[in-house]
Amino acid sequence: MRSKKLIIFVLVISFVFISTLSHTQKALAAEPNLYWGSRGTAVVQLQQTLNNQGYWCGNADGIFGAKTYNAVINFQRKAGITADGIVGPQTRSTLGLSSSTPSTSQVSRGGVRTMTVLATGYCPCAKCNWPFVGQPSYLGYPLKKGIVAVDPKVIPMGSRLYIEGYGAAIAADQGGAIKGNHIDLCFSNHKEASSWGMKYVKVTVY
Ligand SMILES: [Zn+2]
Repeated sequence: MRSKKLIIFVLVISFVFISTLSHTQKALAAEPNLYWGSRGTAVVQLQQTLNNQGYWCGNADGIFGAKTYNAVINFQRKAGITADGIVGPQTRSTLGLSSSTPSTSQVSRGGVRTMTVLATGYCPCAKCNWPFVGQPSYLGYPLKKGIVAVDPKVIPMGSRLYIEGYGAAIAADQGGAIKGNHIDLCFSNHKEASSWGMKYVKVTVY
């Protein structure tokens, strides 16, 4: 009698535990995919991000239609990921969209905008510049601290920048791997560049 009760108790507890667990996992799972026909604030956020990155999809009205679809396809093609027009985890992370940050970029009155980008580091060394060792940056400036490689579709070449944790800089270089919301910061030597590593930072574009 007693052991029967205990078994039931254990069963109930484990059932509660398992269902709580699966519920938590569901909550932690990635945001639902966005595709043609999706609506809501997640679509507004997607549209704003696409517009800010130069993939114009019209007013951010929260309705995923033809314009948004085309913008997503264009972005996916440029980014070299599967161009299916569906915003799943890969497209989301390549775009820099995340569920915790409601907006990655905002335009202020003066035309100054701030955005969150992934920043990596490089230096003038052979390892960092293979096969263009010894060449100046895209705009002709010598490679040194303050020179930043950008995707010109996201940040226009020649823009003055302020990068959190790095300082004032100029968008004067480009790189094959620098696409979308990704910038590459030039440091004076390889040690400094590698100790920067890879981080998300706030950039102000003037
Ligand atoms: Zn280097």
